[in-house]
Amino acid sequence: HDTYNQQARFVNDASHELRTPIAVIGGYADMLARWGKDDEKVLNESISAIQTETERMKHLVEQLLFLARGDSGRTRLQLESVSAAALMKEAFEESVMIDEKHVYRLRDEGPDTELQADRGLLKQAVRILIDNAAKYTKEGDEIVLSYGQSDSRPYLQVQDCGIGMAQADVQHMFERFYRADKARSFEGTGLGLSIAKWIVDKHRGHFEVLSRQDIGTRIRIVL
Ligand code: ATP
Ligand code: MG
Repeated sequence: HDTYNQQARFVNDASHELRTPIAVIGGYADMLARWGKDDEKVLNESISAIQTETERMKHLVEQLLFLARGDSGRTRLQLESVSAAALMKEAFEESVMIDEKHVYRLRDEGPDTELQADRGLLKQAVRILIDNAAKYTKEGDEIVLSYGQSDSRPYLQVQDCGIGMAQADVQHMFERFYRADKARSFEGTGLGLSIAKWIVDKHRGHFEVLSRQDIGTRIRIVL
């Protein structure tokens, strides 16, 4: 019964989220039809808005598809031996390349571990954490990626000094579509961490979260 209700709520929330970009695209298309032929300003503004909204909707649909595939058991893990150090180094180098607005550091806090993991999916989970760290941390500030072991369990970690979260938000952050009030002024749908959680659950791992408002957030994937 609970699962059914959750699923129904998910479909409901997803429909709501899709309604906004569709309405925006429709609105600009109407504007184009009416004035776009004569007014170059309207033309350019409409085209760029439609492009932005389409990108946003594409991202949302990809997230929804991932979760739907996961729910129906169609995503299979391809386990292989993955070095924690190599995976974090890769993520670090990509971050440095695609995000010039933050200072990235890579730190080893313990010996490397050979994980039995799906490399692509685990990397995707780490990327989701890094995307959040970058989004919720102001320009020029530091984001530290690290790996190590605690109680002889390997972990991958992302730490930022961004807006942080209240304890009440930490309790809900992995729920689908959940976004803290303070996060709503940033772009996003609230599905990133649900995807990361699905991936980490499938690896029989868990998250450890330490977050303080206005100080920062540290999220650890423990495997
Ligand atoms: P998207 O689906 O585009 O990733 P999102 O970033 O809002 O959107 P999640 O990644 O699922 O969604 O994160 C859920 C919420 O958890 C965020 O909206 C934000 O409130 C909070 N959160 C997650 N990571 C951080 C962080 N590093 N610092 C502060 N808040 C965070
Ligand atoms: Mg996110």
